[in-house]
Amino acid sequence: MKKLILCIIFCTLYKQSFCWGFYAHQRINYFAVFLLPPEMMVLYKPNIQFISDHAVDPDKRRYAVATEAPKHYIDIDRYGRYPWTEVPEGFSDAVKKYSEDTVIANGIVPWWIVIMQQRLTNAFKEKNAAKILKLSAELGHYIADSHVPLHSNSNHDGQQTNQKGIHGFWESRVPELLAEKEFDFMIGKATYISDIPKYVWDRVRESGAASDTVLKDEAGLTKQFPADRKYSFEERSGKIVRQYSSAFTIAYNHMLNGMVERRMRVAIASVASFWYTAWVNAGQPDLKNLKKTAFTEEDMKEFETLNNAWRSDRIKGRQHE
Ligand SMILES: [Zn+2]
Repeated sequence: MKKLILCIIFCTLYKQSFCWGFYAHQRINYFAVFLLPPEMMVLYKPNIQFISDHAVDPDKRRYAVATEAPKHYIDIDRYGRYPWTEVPEGFSDAVKKYSEDTVIANGIVPWWIVIMQQRLTNAFKEKNAAKILKLSAELGHYIADSHVPLHSNSNHDGQQTNQKGIHGFWESRVPELLAEKEFDFMIGKATYISDIPKYVWDRVRESGAASDTVLKDEAGLTKQFPADRKYSFEERSGKIVRQYSSAFTIAYNHMLNGMVERRMRVAIASVASFWYTAWVNAGQPDLKNLKKTAFTEEDMKEFETLNNAWRSDRIKGRQHE
């Protein structure tokens, strides 16, 4: 009985994590700011806290809006085999080929990034600081998601292979345990992206190609690892939760040969480069006098709604994305 009660407590305490986890999303947006040129830094650096905090708004929106989920992934394996070149890079061409329902059901992250990029470019043209910051934070989220291997595989949480939990394991548990201590985020500079759809699809194809390794290595390690040491009860945000043990997490990261760190580094470089490209395409507007930001009442209301929906803990649409 005592065991049952303990289990119920632990299970309820363990809040679902998805999409790089809140921690990694916030770090990706944070480090991306340091790759920007000084002309952009004048706006982004004083607002770095906002850019990091709001990196997770799209995940919170998944609790409020049913149509949000497909914007975070693409089940690219449903379109045949690597390198999936038969999928049209334009949304309307893809809809013509497969039907809108199919395209949406399989996830639309590569197309959604292109739309968000255009919105950010327009915000720069309008010199609207509040819009620039809000869209930069959210675009950073979707770009980061497109770098996660299991966001490009229909077996997104190992549900087809008896590996449930692997989604949060790769994108939350590994970086939360190891990023501060072991990952290197000195990356260089943002670069201009001349062909945005091609860039996005290249990253998504890399993710799809890597997803097999993510799954196979976890299955392989599970076979080698003592079963009673795979999970452990450890502290997480001040609470005791059941999770993949530190030893298993370290061994898995070693087995992946730095893949999580590599994808996180590419995600940071991509996020900064998309922000930079939007600014260049908008004609490099002077951002010096935009330091003060005023969010509209509508924005403030949306932030509050997102937080409330997230706290309610009832997700709409697919889990783990
Ligand atoms: Zn996401």
